Amino acid sequence: MTADTYPVWGWAPDPGDAPKRPDLEALVPLVTEHLGLPAQPPETPRPLAGLPADRVSDRLPAALRPLADATAVRRARHGLGRSYADIVRGLRGEIDHAPDCVLTPRTEAEVVALLDWCSDARVAVVPFGGGTSVVGGVEPAVGDGFTGVVSLDLAELAGVIEVDATSRATRVRAGTPGPRLEDELRPHGLTARFFPQSFERSTVGGWVATRAAGHFATRLTHIDDLVESVRAVTPTGVWESRRLPGSGAGPSPDRMLLGSEGSLGVVTEAWLRVQPRPEHRWSATLAGPTFTAATTAARALLHDGLLPATCRAIDAAESATTGTLATGEAVLVLGLESYGGPVDAEAARALDICRDAGLRVVEAGDRGGSGEAWRSSFVRAPYVREQLILLGLLVETFETAITWDRLDSFVDEVTVSTGSPAG
Ligand SMILES: Cc1cc2nc3c(=O)[nH]c(=O)nc-3n(C[C@H](O)[C@H](O)[C@H](O)COP(=O)(O)OP(=O)(O)OC[C@H]3O[C@@H](n4cnc5c(N)ncnc54)[C@H](O)[C@@H]3O)c2cc1C
Repeated sequence: MTADTYPVWGWAPDPGDAPKRPDLEALVPLVTEHLGLPAQPPETPRPLAGLPADRVSDRLPAALRPLADATAVRRARHGLGRSYADIVRGLRGEIDHAPDCVLTPRTEAEVVALLDWCSDARVAVVPFGGGTSVVGGVEPAVGDGFTGVVSLDLAELAGVIEVDATSRATRVRAGTPGPRLEDELRPHGLTARFFPQSFERSTVGGWVATRAAGHFATRLTHIDDLVESVRAVTPTGVWESRRLPGSGAGPSPDRMLLGSEGSLGVVTEAWLRVQPRPEHRWSATLAGPTFTAATTAARALLHDGLLPATCRAIDAAESATTGTLATGEAVLVLGLESYGGPVDAEAARALDICRDAGLRVVEAGDRGGSGEAWRSSFVRAPYVREQLILLGLLVETFETAITWDRLDSFVDEVTVSTGSPAG
């Protein structure tokens, strides 16, 4: 398998992690058997098509020029996010919009200098965190009104700057990816408990700019719930919202930046709420005859006021393919956590509620077993996804939110329109 372009379309940055042809070939019968779908022989990634000439690097002032990289692989990587269509285009070497160059500032002052120069030179700037956008957010498709377009990579502006243990908050640089944030909080006994599925690659600045949502988080779900203040370099200078634990005074200025997708400025830092690492954990796997049985139990749990860290209904087909449960039943994976004390009472209540809703307990107690199988398949999903795409399958997640009263009919409609196996 050609690994040369793997950093352009793959989940890991290292070409050595590219899927290997023998592994892919071994996957073909499993795909057919488990998913009932035909798999093609593994697609061979194609070399990059020629990119247009770089219009920016040579015009940069001498002091900023060392921050620019116009090598083809870097430009191509920064021309794509990680949607299904992005991965396929990357695999085929078809980069519709590549930035002229990638700029990697090392300090906030360099961000200011770069934005000033780009503004004067009419060069468009697209901020780039982990590049895991699935909505075209990092693709530099900016039209003809500019003399060039650059990708501003925040990778060098990374790390925890300070920890306020009294207020349980941390000031962190925007380019910090999930694992580094957790690694630097761990010695303080703290955690952000913010785990989007893209945790391994996505960054604090990207989370803020996209209003990302984490998993293992029924209570603090969106990054909004964690943000105390945001600092950004805007076209008119450095802007920082006042750090407050909460405010009822008029519109929230943080909201301007949350979800702005880089359109208002470059986020350089944020203060995030953190919490002690959980000491008490409990998990359970429950099974029911239908997906509706699992979602009914989930609703009953939440309406009872229980806030499980994990509460995920999985239909029978996903249960089987993720190795969670192969009985043809739908599953509810539950997890409770606490840093304050044991969760035994909540666990007992949760099991009662689920039994009343018609589920049977497959296992309950310390972590392990089938719930863990689901969790590990969730974390590995981006790697499996690219393997399946190489075998010709369309693999994508899509998200929605819907009130409980419309859930069942909505699930039915989506199941029919996507041709999915009934849960
Ligand atoms: C396999 C997979 C799983 C995913 N799982 C989840 C999930 O569980 N929850 C979820 O919410 N999303 C998920 N996503 C989507 C994506 O990971 C999130 O949107 C994430 O927040 C993007 O972060 P990033 O650092 O990769 O940002 P990028 O992809 O680099 O950028 C995203 C957008 O934010 C802007 N931006 C980035 N950094 C900054 C900055 N410092 N200042 C200003 N603008 C900036 C970019 O210009 C772009 O518009 C997933 C994506 C994939 C591929």
